[in-house]
Amino acid sequence: MRETFEFRIAEDRARRFLAPDLGVPLSDILRKVVLPGDDPRVQEIGDIQRAQRKKGELFFTYWHIHRKYTAEELQSAELLDLIIRAYFEPPGSMCGTEYDDAAACKHCGADAPLKTELILNTKRIPKSKDIAQSIAGEVVVSSRFVAAFKEHGLRGAEFRPVFHNGRKGPQPSEWYRPVFTSKPLKLDAKTVAGNNPFDLDERGEFRCPKRHMAGLNQISELYLKRASHDGSDLCITDKYFGCRRGELRPERRLLISPKLREVLEGMNAKGFILEVAHLV
Ligand SMILES: [Zn+2]
Repeated sequence: MRETFEFRIAEDRARRFLAPDLGVPLSDILRKVVLPGDDPRVQEIGDIQRAQRKKGELFFTYWHIHRKYTAEELQSAELLDLIIRAYFEPPGSMCGTEYDDAAACKHCGADAPLKTELILNTKRIPKSKDIAQSIAGEVVVSSRFVAAFKEHGLRGAEFRPVFHNGRKGPQPSEWYRPVFTSKPLKLDAKTVAGNNPFDLDERGEFRCPKRHMAGLNQISELYLKRASHDGSDLCITDKYFGCRRGELRPERRLLISPKLREVLEGMNAKGFILEVAHLV
């Protein structure tokens, strides 16, 4: 696996702290820096970020960790983290979907059950994708996805119809939402989560006394307790990532079996990337 760190840094700040030839300009005011994970400059950027933060300022304004795997690494993985890369707006709550927020965790807002079916403006879901999500973590899959899942006798979820918010009220659509029947996978403490790679939220700002939340962002690959895996092909983590704010809702991570990976690859499914997840 090859890990690279991407940072975006305001040009005036980049000029103060970094070599002029490090990274590429995205505009007159923003610079993009991409470095291999083991490059000492990653830690230097981390040190600058920490020092700036103490002064109440930021150094980078965006970060992302890219992981690239060999075909063999993906092939031999026992479980894969399916990371959705197709998004749509608006979220369900703006299309007639109702949540029972009173039943959600009072501390972190996780676990609010749906009070209605999932109603969306399904015309806004990218048509060419087989899986997509809203900023509220509402995951939808295509009818193609559902058909392939059933045809191959895969286990771990049932699929409920998603409704389109039409002029005459909710109408059936081509999309489905997974309802998980698999046992949630217990996240192992080896999984690193936090605000960014250099701020693991020691103050617990994005964690919950009832321990629903892993943290604001996933930073490492996922590590899951082997004993909690019931052998399903489509699973979710027990813990959530993200936060409850405005339309944002905490989200669980999706995991798939090698068998489901093969099925998705066979149908050339779109809308996601895969990372290796580890059973420990
Ligand atoms: Zn909670």
